[in-house]
Amino acid sequence: MAKQVDYLIIGQGLAGSLLGWELMQAGCRIHLIDNQKENASQVAAGLINPITGMRLVKQADIETLLPCAQQTYHRLGQFFGQDFYIAKDMLRIVRNQKELHTFQQRSQNKAYLDYLVPELQIPPTSLHAPLGTIRQKKTGYLLTLKLLNCLKDFFQQKQCYQASQFDYQALQLNSGIRYQNITAKKIIFCEGYQAIANPWFKYLPFQLAKGEILTLTATSPLPDAIFNYGRWLIPLNRLQLRTGATFEPHQLDALPSTQGKQQLLEALIHIMPSLNTAHLIKHQAGIRPTTLDKAPFIGLHPQYDNVAIFNGFGAKGSLQIPFYSRHFTQYLRKQSPLIATVDCQRYANSKAPPA
Ligand SMILES: Cc1cc2nc3c(=O)[nH]c(=O)nc-3n(C[C@H](O)[C@H](O)[C@H](O)COP(=O)(O)OP(=O)(O)OC[C@H]3O[C@@H](n4cnc5c(N)ncnc54)[C@H](O)[C@@H]3O)c2cc1C
Repeated sequence: MAKQVDYLIIGQGLAGSLLGWELMQAGCRIHLIDNQKENASQVAAGLINPITGMRLVKQADIETLLPCAQQTYHRLGQFFGQDFYIAKDMLRIVRNQKELHTFQQRSQNKAYLDYLVPELQIPPTSLHAPLGTIRQKKTGYLLTLKLLNCLKDFFQQKQCYQASQFDYQALQLNSGIRYQNITAKKIIFCEGYQAIANPWFKYLPFQLAKGEILTLTATSPLPDAIFNYGRWLIPLNRLQLRTGATFEPHQLDALPSTQGKQQLLEALIHIMPSLNTAHLIKHQAGIRPTTLDKAPFIGLHPQYDNVAIFNGFGAKGSLQIPFYSRHFTQYLRKQSPLIATVDCQRYANSKAPPA
């Protein structure tokens, strides 16, 4: 007997998981297939940081994206009886006079007051920060792996999770879709970087970037803040920390490298020399699904309106995916038009999509 659902979702990273969750909340029937390869979401630090880069630029749409992310992780936390989002201020080490000058300008700007404490901060004694630190507010991190594991258990209990590789050749497209014993109105690909092998969407301009992250145990207690110094340091508890991430657009394997480890350790020990006695306990790598214009790829294939994509969240999945999961659910249920800047059809004419 065929199993009938509304949406067949391929990929159980953060994108497929939160979209599946939103669709179920809206009363839709889903089925999820995931090949259980190590994915970007499992490696990610889950950082949410509204003000980024040396120019201290506020993320576009932060006033829309951040409350939605906070609300989604809070609701999921209540549902599963766990904390998934850890709100924690970030101390940004001022790296040069130019950054100091930019900070002075930003701290006069009302639009930044919710995100930046306007006075320079005295750094903790363990920190090498001769020009001082800037305290950023509304920052934090998502415990992504913990959330994905809870959602996977949930989908398994609802009997809508299948651990297997999706076989593109076996997809039948008619008015709806059929795959093995499943029929659905639409298929939605949430494959992260593996979308570059997808016959319907590989024409989209992904610009993937590898990243590496270290987990270490310190030998003396860590200050209780996230640190940003071009790289970042997240204290997971009094002694354990994660540091990352490298950004490597040219080497697209998901393998930890000696070079990546060295870069991260050098930067870390430079800002906190006492960490030269820390023990490395994990070294991970993953590939971010970044895109040419830095905006996600969401929507329907230009020729097949039963084939969709929800991808391209780059280095900002924890912030963006909750809002766009809700938005795409509303679009699929014909409750709102898709925001044009994220619609994958913005590239419909750049190269002929596959027939
Ligand atoms: C080192 C690193 C650090 C990062 N740090 C942060 C951070 O601090 N903050 C932040 O917001 N973001 C961060 N990111 C980015 C974040 O990981 C991504 O934005 C987000 O996780 C992307 O989720 P996704 O579900 O689209 O892709 P993925 O997590 O890659 O999930 C895709 C899933 O689809 C499965 N799949 C693919 N193809 C198939 C197929 N044919 N059949 C079956 N299954 C399939 C994959 O196995 C995988 O499980 C980081 C990424 C990396 C690599």
